Amino acid sequence: MKIALVKEIEVGENRVALIPDTVARLVKQGLEIWVETGAGEGAFFSDRAYEEAGAQLSSDTAMLWGDSDVVLKVSLPKEQEINQMREGTTLISFLNPLGKPELVQQLANCKVTAFGMELIPRTSRAQSMDALSSQAGVAGYKAVLIAAAALPKFFPMLTTAAGTIKPAKVFVIGAGVAGLQAIATARRLGAVVEAFDIRPAVKEEVQSLGARFVEVTLDEDTVAEGGYAKEVSEASKQRTQELIAEHVQQADIVITTAQVPGKKAPLLVSEEMVQQMKPGSVIVDLAAEQGGNCAGTEAGKDVVRHGVTIIGPINLPSSMPVNASQMYAKNISTLLQYLIKEGQLQLNFDDDIIASTCITHGGEILNQRVKDVLAQMSAAV
Ligand code: NAD
Repeated sequence: MKIALVKEIEVGENRVALIPDTVARLVKQGLEIWVETGAGEGAFFSDRAYEEAGAQLSSDTAMLWGDSDVVLKVSLPKEQEINQMREGTTLISFLNPLGKPELVQQLANCKVTAFGMELIPRTSRAQSMDALSSQAGVAGYKAVLIAAAALPKFFPMLTTAAGTIKPAKVFVIGAGVAGLQAIATARRLGAVVEAFDIRPAVKEEVQSLGARFVEVTLDEDTVAEGGYAKEVSEASKQRTQELIAEHVQQADIVITTAQVPGKKAPLLVSEEMVQQMKPGSVIVDLAAEQGGNCAGTEAGKDVVRHGVTIIGPINLPSSMPVNASQMYAKNISTLLQYLIKEGQLQLNFDDDIIASTCITHGGEILNQRVKDVLAQMSAAV
């Protein structure tokens, strides 16, 4: 079976789907790995390292896309890439199926079997394939470093001959994967950290990282299937808003990471809250690409509102491509090995990992949510 690792062409994407170490492991298992020349360049993995790991190099992009059984990738494929694929080829990549359902339609039209890495279920069985988590951890870490660099203050408490400096106060909203890594990083830098989440189950994890958990008691269940948060009622929103306002006002840095899968990010930090923060404070809104948790966030930009810098970073994992690629490579190679039995891809749709991750097969879209979004789109035309 021929597996192709292609070069990312998305502007700003430095990650690569396999690193030389993972290639060596796959080659040892008898898989034939082809690597596009320069594929690892953005993440500092040389062609030579892939060759030494047992891969075959090629600069023939059309051959790699058109002549392989499986194509591995990080960011969404472009139309011209999909058009080069032959029927029956398997593509494994991030695909943003709910945000870009038209891309899924194109994959189905080309009869490609597509696996969306963002659809790996968050179960313990699939943990080592969970690319959303591995990449969110990178984002949570980097968000704090960005905030620290933008803050006109120290993070740790300092006792010096020139006086005592108070530690910075960090407030993290949303204590999922990115939020927990942000808490841990801010604590390591010496800040005093508070965190809020509508899922009470995260309290212990927050506390074990040395942060204070800001608690709210709501009259409804906030956890959906799979342990993710669900959208809450207007009354609950009102109560959480009041609590958030109190803590935002006291913070030097606010890191927002709140999301409900498949929904627009909840707006949690209002313009009024921003206005009440101390000038010089910093907000890093990790949900910028989903519409933002903060009023005034602009994806990919830094804006200053009422003396507060609001940063809306996009694709932070790409800014740490070495480890982000290393973790993604582990995720994607584990899925690949899971799909291959006796040297062939075996798709058992009764298996929950395969059923939830495979979006298109045999010309059909398999994911009901994507079908619903496409139906809504065509009804609106
Ligand atoms: P996650 O699902 O693990 O965590 C999100 C957390 O938000 C959950 O704990 C959930 O309970 C909480 N939440 C939901 N609604 C809330 C509310 N109303 N109030 C308080 N908490 C609420 O998600 P994650 O993997 O940690 O990702 C977090 C965010 O970071 C997402 O928006 C994701 O897209 C984004 N992200 C951004 C980048 C980037 O480069 N900018 C990279 C990776 C992830």
